[in-house]
Amino acid sequence: MTAGWNLDNSYARLPDKFFTRLNPTVVRSPKLIVLNEALAASLGFKVGELKSEDNVAVFAGNRLPEGAAPLAQAYAAHQFGHFNMLGDGRALLLGEQITPHCERVDIQLKGAGRTPYSRGGDGRAALGPMLREYIISEAMHGLGIPTTRSLAVVATGEAVIRETGLPGAILTRVAASHIRVGTFQYIANWGTVEDVRTLADYTLQRHFPDIGKSPERYLELLKAVVSRQAALIAKWQLAGFIHGVMNTDNMAISGETIDYGPCAFMDTYDPSTVFSSIDRQGRYAYANQPPIAAWNLARFADTLLPLLHRDEEQAVQLAEDVLTGFQKLYHRTWLAGMRAKLGLFDEAAEDEDLVENLLNMMEKHRADYTNTFRQLTLGMQVDANLLQTSEFVQWYESWQARVGRQQEAEAAWRQLMKDSNPAVIPRNHRVEEALERAVEYADYSAMNKLLAALEKPYAYTPEQVEFTTLPAPSTAPYRTFCGT
Ligand code: AMP
Ligand code: MG
Repeated sequence: MTAGWNLDNSYARLPDKFFTRLNPTVVRSPKLIVLNEALAASLGFKVGELKSEDNVAVFAGNRLPEGAAPLAQAYAAHQFGHFNMLGDGRALLLGEQITPHCERVDIQLKGAGRTPYSRGGDGRAALGPMLREYIISEAMHGLGIPTTRSLAVVATGEAVIRETGLPGAILTRVAASHIRVGTFQYIANWGTVEDVRTLADYTLQRHFPDIGKSPERYLELLKAVVSRQAALIAKWQLAGFIHGVMNTDNMAISGETIDYGPCAFMDTYDPSTVFSSIDRQGRYAYANQPPIAAWNLARFADTLLPLLHRDEEQAVQLAEDVLTGFQKLYHRTWLAGMRAKLGLFDEAAEDEDLVENLLNMMEKHRADYTNTFRQLTLGMQVDANLLQTSEFVQWYESWQARVGRQQEAEAAWRQLMKDSNPAVIPRNHRVEEALERAVEYADYSAMNKLLAALEKPYAYTPEQVEFTTLPAPSTAPYRTFCGT
């Protein structure tokens, strides 16, 4: 085959209990809906060849590419705080593509049929949610937030039954790996300490080769994962991204955002924002994402305890010392990001107050999160609700004084703001509109236009302006759904 498949299968060489080997279930009539040509090229694929019937059959699970060793990964999870056995219930890892730059990325088919981990599920996915994952994950990539990528979506020509019959689809997902906190939890619960060591060593070699082979490497692994997650969650908060289902199976050890189910971007600034219809307690609300990440990391640390120290108490102490560092690491990255959003190159003691005061006003006056920063960046008037308050006028003056005290000229700090405040995000109403056109009418023009606008969100092009418009006021809050 000439399409550029270059698969290795290091995960398949791990102990059998880590996964179940099986092939995708054949689908009726695959049709390529979208192919990520730039990503395909960077992975060493020949884009033209990938569109051939032979390769569309690969994306549909009807044919295996050379070198594939398909498997469903086993994992567990704390779902909304409750521990469960899960595993890939509708996804199959084909193998690891070795790119022209010798990087190793998982190629996974999501929606490829039932597996031993499917429980009551049908192993399938619907077209709308797979296109949604494609749009949001590519938007995250454009924003500079570590994420799994989307290589292709194919329609299967089969219906999937949800509340109604929906067109079925398969997403080809590309990830640094699919090792999750839940993978460690599964092995720690149903394997031996030696199995955990095997997984930890594999993870170290794959994601943190610089740590090397010292006896302290498992504590270093914990530190590295804590630090990547702190950086990731800070980026989510800065962009107003709400993951929606931060169960421990949806936290990747690589530090990439994974599993785009009920996620959405916040419009009106409100720390208690929840979009997911099943998150009735607000466990995964915007403001809770940092503490939930810390909680998930503690579950990761639990699995490593036997590797940290022979004495359990000392192991716990070592882990706790690392875990308590999360908040500081997170806060440091977040504050640095907020300074950049306000055009600040240097640091002053009053900066945190400046940020908090702005956010408090945005919350009180229901300002749009992304647009407020965009308007400040462009020197435009902010929305009327905020503008007409004397506290905002006062804040604006102190902000102007603060940026003015810097060495850098206005052009430089405005550029820093442009580089730190996206002109566009995938606004919920535009995503819904694009999906409706695509799924109901097979019209992909709105989706393609949206994807083009999201590719370089810091570019501030004229084409992006229309995507900054807010939806018409609606009484019903935006809702997103799991298990799609
Ligand atoms: P998620 O909420 O996407 O993180 O998924 C939680 C678990 O449910 C994972 O084990 C998934 O593989 C599984 N799952 C989700 N949807 C399906 C489906 N349609 N069929 C089988 N398993 C599923
Ligand atoms: Mg999941």
